[in-house]
Formats: sequence, C-alpha cells, structure tokens
Amino acid sequence: MKTQSAKQSSGKWLNPAGWRIVQAVFSTCPCCNSFQYSITEHKRGLPCKDCGMPTDRILSEVYACKSCGYAQEQFFPEGDKVEDSLFCDFCTPNHR
Ligand SMILES: [Zn+2]
Ligand SMILES: [Zn+2]
Repeated sequence: MKTQSAKQSSGKWLNPAGWRIVQAVFSTCPCCNSFQYSITEHKRGLPCKDCGMPTDRILSEVYACKSCGYAQEQFFPEGDKVEDSLFCDFCTPNHR
C-alpha cells in the first residue's frame, strides 16, 4: 500500500488550514484597501491577573498602512486580557 501513503502526504499541499494563516497575515487597509497594511509592532505587557504588573505576554499589536499612513492598535490579540500569575515575574519570580 505504498501508493496510498504517497497520496496522503502530497494532499497536505491543499490543506485549507494553511491558507487561513496566510489570509490572517495579509489584511487590507480599512482606509485605502491597500495590501501594505500589516502588523508593525508587538507591544508586550499583558497584566498579571493577580497583581496587575505587566508581563512578557503580548498586550497589543499595532497595524500600520505603508500606503496611506493609517494605523490601528489591536488589543488582546491572543484573546486573553490577563496573564496567569504563574508567568508573572512578581508572583512567580523563578518561572523562567
Ligand atoms: Zn491605507
Ligand atoms: Zn503577578
């Protein structure tokens, strides 16, 4: 059954999940619809849920358009509004 396994591995080229990732990276500018609208900066400092101090997790992503100069800050890109205290420098000093 060698031919069957070969077919399965070549089928990964058409994996729709990979296409979705590409679409998420290249978004269009809401102002001028240019494709030069992309993430230019990741801001760290998601607050710890226990003490509120900033952690290393991403707090926001800055999208900017190279064509018209429009910029927008997207907060909580990972969905979480606070970081677990297990990853906090103050609550768990030896977490690294
Ligand atoms: Zn633009
Ligand atoms: Zn903390």
